[in-house]
Amino acid sequence: MNSPTPSSARISIIGAGPGGLTCARILQQHGIAVTVYDRDPDAHSRNQGGSLDLHDDDGQLALREAGLLEEFFALARFEGQEMRHLDPAGNVLAHHLPNEGETASPEIDRGQLRELLLRSLTEGTVRWGRTLESVSGPDDGPRTLIFADGTTVETDLVIGADGAFSRVRPAVSSATPVYTGVSFLEAWFDDMESAHPGLSELVGKGSAHAADGKRGLFAQRNSGGHMRVYLMQCVPANWIAANGLRPEDTEGIRAHLLREYADWSPRTLRLITDNDGAYVDRPLLALPVPHTWEHSPGVTLLGDAAHLMPPLGVGVNLAMLDAGELALALVHSATVDDAVRRYESTMLPRSAEIARMLEGGAQSMLDLFESDERR
Ligand SMILES: Cc1cc2nc3c(=O)[nH]c(=O)nc-3n(C[C@H](O)[C@H](O)[C@H](O)COP(=O)(O)OP(=O)(O)OC[C@H]3O[C@@H](n4cnc5c(N)ncnc54)[C@H](O)[C@@H]3O)c2cc1C
Repeated sequence: MNSPTPSSARISIIGAGPGGLTCARILQQHGIAVTVYDRDPDAHSRNQGGSLDLHDDDGQLALREAGLLEEFFALARFEGQEMRHLDPAGNVLAHHLPNEGETASPEIDRGQLRELLLRSLTEGTVRWGRTLESVSGPDDGPRTLIFADGTTVETDLVIGADGAFSRVRPAVSSATPVYTGVSFLEAWFDDMESAHPGLSELVGKGSAHAADGKRGLFAQRNSGGHMRVYLMQCVPANWIAANGLRPEDTEGIRAHLLREYADWSPRTLRLITDNDGAYVDRPLLALPVPHTWEHSPGVTLLGDAAHLMPPLGVGVNLAMLDAGELALALVHSATVDDAVRRYESTMLPRSAEIARMLEGGAQSMLDLFESDERR
């Protein structure tokens, strides 16, 4: 088959996450038609999760290309760039306080970022409640999207931006995500200033991290006076059931955590026990390194679908960088096939290199932090 020109092609993006929406926005800015399919019933149907820091050398570059950098800056929390390294007693070992005007990595809630991108798209671009089941069709012809409700759509290019458990990925690769050996347990705090003033003071306006070599925590301020804490443990993926607990047994999990973190001071333990609501279990997965595939006309991947890595602050930034590069490759190439080749020739080696650097990085989050003075 002759590959179509990008402006005449039927382009489908699976996934309305930061990567998929950034790609759609930049394509539309250049007059290229695109449809995004997402399994969520609507834009607000689930909590979008924590705060994301967008870096000036990747995530922000994509937002600039999308014409949304100023709007991002208007929403971003620059004070969220404050970072503290604590010991298990709550003593500050290192402290980064952002300079006046520092814009290297301001924070934004994931939900706010999604809203910002959605608002920028032509009405009706995102088809909600469309769960992709699989992609079929010949290597050299149009592909067919098969949805869970039995409907199908024929398309010239499928962009898999559907995250860790991508249903597009099997069309190019047999790789599946593997457990890293580290689990996050998410704890949520409301109304920090009046309900949790001691923790507010301990964490500061950005994030705070502490670890003792076996376990750790990462506390992260969100907008609206909220905070998320990720409790990090090197445990089997099924650790809750293995300890005779159920995910909804908040008191049982809390008692278990108090035993596990028994050496930590009462002050830091409050980051573990004083949460509002239930804990959320988030075992960390990653794709084998390097994850790559043979070029296949008509299908490509971006973001977590292409290179799921441990969450060390690069995931969303790489997803948006991929998205910007793929969109611009489509804008500037004669055919869809040329564009996908051009995009993959940059994205695959870059993500393989970063994935190699971060391989095993989930465990490094538990390493004992030593301040420069102590080394
Ligand atoms: C606990 C945790 C904390 C993190 N913290 C950070 C951080 O601080 N900074 C950072 O840079 N990264 C962080 N990450 C990583 C970051 O969340 C991801 O790298 C980023 O969201 C990837 O974006 P994406 O657009 O590729 O995919 P996603 O954000 O996963 O979006 C995928 C979209 O596809 C949709 N979808 C999925 N399957 C289907 C289907 N079958 N059919 C249709 N639609 C589908 C989903 O509904 C979703 O909207 C963290 C990850 C975790 C787990």
